Amino acid sequence: MDLHKLTAHELHRMLKKGEISVTDLCRDVFERIKAVEDRIKAYVTLTEKVALLSKAGEVDENLEAGKAISPLTGIPVAIKDNMCTKGVLTTCASKILGNYVPIYTSTAVEKLFAQDVVMVGKTNMDEFAMGSSTENSAFGVTRNPWNLETVPGGSSGGSAAAVAADEAIVALGSDTGGSIRQPAALCGVVGMKPTYGLVSRYGLVAFASSLDQIGPITKDVTDCALVLNCICGHDRMDSTSLRVDIPDYTEALVDDIKGLRIGVVKELMGEGIESSVRDSVDKAIALLESLGATCEEVSLSHLDYALSAYYLIAPAEASSNLARFDGVRYGYRTPGALEDMMEMYSKTRAEGFGNEVKRRIMLGTYALSAGYYEAYYGQAQKVRTLIVEDFNKAFEKFDVLISPTSPTVAFKIGEKYEDPLRMYMSDVCTIPVNLAGIPGISVPCGLADDLPVGLQILGKALDEMTVLRVAYAFEQKFGFKEKPAL
Ligand code: GLN
Repeated sequence: MDLHKLTAHELHRMLKKGEISVTDLCRDVFERIKAVEDRIKAYVTLTEKVALLSKAGEVDENLEAGKAISPLTGIPVAIKDNMCTKGVLTTCASKILGNYVPIYTSTAVEKLFAQDVVMVGKTNMDEFAMGSSTENSAFGVTRNPWNLETVPGGSSGGSAAAVAADEAIVALGSDTGGSIRQPAALCGVVGMKPTYGLVSRYGLVAFASSLDQIGPITKDVTDCALVLNCICGHDRMDSTSLRVDIPDYTEALVDDIKGLRIGVVKELMGEGIESSVRDSVDKAIALLESLGATCEEVSLSHLDYALSAYYLIAPAEASSNLARFDGVRYGYRTPGALEDMMEMYSKTRAEGFGNEVKRRIMLGTYALSAGYYEAYYGQAQKVRTLIVEDFNKAFEKFDVLISPTSPTVAFKIGEKYEDPLRMYMSDVCTIPVNLAGIPGISVPCGLADDLPVGLQILGKALDEMTVLRVAYAFEQKFGFKEKPAL
């Protein structure tokens, strides 16, 4: 049986009944990886030895000895390579961290480990999570399982491609401006960015600290709720981690959205959205209405400025966060004879960082420099506040908001690589959500030109329950069953 094709909740049922062992399951997933990874290149590092020679067997023994089984026990997971994993290379897809082996594990991953998941490997990404195509990786390009000539989206393209190609059952990604939802959309899987502060960022290599958030990439909404259940919760190691009660997110999976008020975001349905994408979303709107929800257009007028604000705030924070990579404390250091420390720093950084990362550092440093700070960074923060207010106002009237996740389906490898501004446009629909700190999910809502389209569903801060409820009802009715032909 092709176990790799199943979801975590389906596999859990089989594991619980003893129909399969964790070892069977992991072997099957690694066989799948062997069969397709050459073409996809979803992983930077595979942890096959630990998984098959020790972890899977250990979990099987525990289960045989009567240890309680949790919904994620024994499930093969893929982790984006910007989350620290003790003893396992964590590169951020950068040359500068090409030899970095952390001495600790990030909280979100630790929480998965506590449920006895089996880590399959660390997934490829845009360097330091900067990008929308996974082309900005020092370790090669990941390909979209639906069409190997196209990108899987980014920056969590490796995680999304791994799940879409059945090279992992579930995965973790990180989302600063769309990096979970956009690749999930382009790869035809489910991806969720939780409310800012719901999942600990401890051990997530920082890109833009006020925007970064870890979340699940899964084959369906049920698995998304299961992973979310596991990774949420207060962490004293992250000062922005929220102290709130965590509900059981599976209680949102009720398949009933009668009477729910859904706002369709006007600014994210017009110019720049491919017509085939808009058609799919229009059909999704009709489907949601057929389920008893009301859909009405709503305007959030400041969203037009979200992209500009983001490309000041995110690089500003990045330029500060990335100052730590100097050849002294982490990873790569330039070889050869050097005059002084300054030369060591600058050569290390010039050789260690890729072009997009350097572009962000320069943009950010400029935006923060004396004389320009108020005009750029200060102004962008004001815009951010206006966007937060727009969302607050919209949520007075609506339970959730919807839009396309990405303005286009998966684009050709190389198509936007040389044109950063076009690349940045890939996140027009997702970036406002990070600026506002609210939760958002992408669920598949059809195919256009044989490539997946994602529907984005947004909720009030900490209202993941309603977001999941709408996503689940949509998924149940829509029944997206297509798989890439690999
Ligand atoms: N594509 C956006 C950027 O390059 C978002 C990346 C992300 O969410 N990590 O900044």
